[in-house]
Amino acid sequence: MSDKYDKGSVIVVGGGPAGLTAAIAMAGSGISTVLAGKRPSRPDNRTTALLAGSVTALSTLGVWTHCEAHAAPLRVMRLVDDTGRLWRAPEVKFAANEIGLDAFGYNIENRHLLTALERRARDLPSLRIREEEVAAVAPGDDNASVALKSGEVINGALVIGADGRRSLCRNAAGISVDERTYKQVALTLCLAHSRPHHDSSTEFHTPSGPFTLVPLPGQRSSLVWVLDPTDADDIAELDDAALAAEIEQRSHSILGKITVERGRGLFPLSLATADRFAARRIALIGEAAHVIPPIGAQGLNLGLRDAAAISELAIAAHRAGRDMGSDATLNAYDRMRRSDVAGRTIAIDLFNRTLLSDFLPVQGARGLGLYLVDRIGPLRRAVMREGVAPASAQPRLMRGKAL
Ligand SMILES: Cc1cc2nc3c(=O)[nH]c(=O)nc-3n(C[C@H](O)[C@H](O)[C@H](O)COP(=O)(O)OP(=O)(O)OC[C@H]3O[C@@H](n4cnc5c(N)ncnc54)[C@H](O)[C@@H]3O)c2cc1C
Repeated sequence: MSDKYDKGSVIVVGGGPAGLTAAIAMAGSGISTVLAGKRPSRPDNRTTALLAGSVTALSTLGVWTHCEAHAAPLRVMRLVDDTGRLWRAPEVKFAANEIGLDAFGYNIENRHLLTALERRARDLPSLRIREEEVAAVAPGDDNASVALKSGEVINGALVIGADGRRSLCRNAAGISVDERTYKQVALTLCLAHSRPHHDSSTEFHTPSGPFTLVPLPGQRSSLVWVLDPTDADDIAELDDAALAAEIEQRSHSILGKITVERGRGLFPLSLATADRFAARRIALIGEAAHVIPPIGAQGLNLGLRDAAAISELAIAAHRAGRDMGSDATLNAYDRMRRSDVAGRTIAIDLFNRTLLSDFLPVQGARGLGLYLVDRIGPLRRAVMREGVAPASAQPRLMRGKAL
């Protein structure tokens, strides 16, 4: 079965948070949109720290109202050098009110974020959801077609590839990817604690990577613990009581007695950037375009800016009577996203390497950098502002402007 080609329609492949956001942005503006995505095979027990611009975008799209009750504000971020090395960095504390914000952002469990996005998506009459695997994507001169596993073929002017790090869309567009793996694994879980977190996240820097506690509503937090792969399995297999004791010790009891909750995840760390973010009627967003280690809460925040940027450009093209999947639209998208993604990828990769390095001058450089950030007010505020939002132009949705 084949749909009649509609030059005003868009197909989003992948129903993760980036794909759902793009589908909501497009369909919310009245563009006929199909979201084709298979559900994740196992529950995602991670949380996402959504920075202020992402929260504004989700509010503008009518999603945040479904998230609020499940999200905790991040008002303070502490970086603590726990490497035990000779040259240690000073503790750095960033407070959102120093840059005039009530909070840097909000932390929410991925299951609540996905439920909120799906709820909003189901309200939109212009959005058709097909919870199915996409078997093939074929870009053509006049349109692109997407074949579902059931045999149905859907045609559209533009395909938004939000199908994650093993992206079928990226292959179909002929885009290669520069990929590297780190000798690091992130153990993720949620926990309850006896002391309040005071809306503060704390990132302990250890020789194997960051050990980060991020607040959740009530006396709960999420943990992302970056480990050497040789230790990760042993630690992940500890029983709840032993793991809680280990976490309490590693966190220097700042949150008091720890109770670990059900569900643990292990995520090997990698870095990947697509050579181009769009080609042949296909625009890549989220992890289909870039993967970065979970340091400084940047991954999905970048992915949401991708979703906002391609939606903004495609909707503008449609309203001007132009082709949404034209090379002009795709090139504009690539230009709009390149520096934001490249800048953050380089910064996080460098920071991660300085943690892992045993080379004294490198450790000294990291310590000096953090010392300067701690001591020089304007630099501190610039770092905070850049961490929350890129200095380069932000997509409209991140500025609270409807599409
Ligand atoms: C430990 C950890 C902690 C993190 N913490 C943060 C954080 O605090 N803040 C932050 O901003 N980011 C964070 N990130 C990054 C964030 O999790 C990712 O950026 C985000 O999940 C990527 O979303 P996505 O929609 O691009 O991809 P995914 O979530 O991978 O979604 C892709 C979807 O596409 C579907 N799919 C794939 N192939 C097909 C196909 N052929 N047909 C149909 N569907 C398909 C998949 O089933 C999946 O549902 C973290 C990452 C890790 C590993």
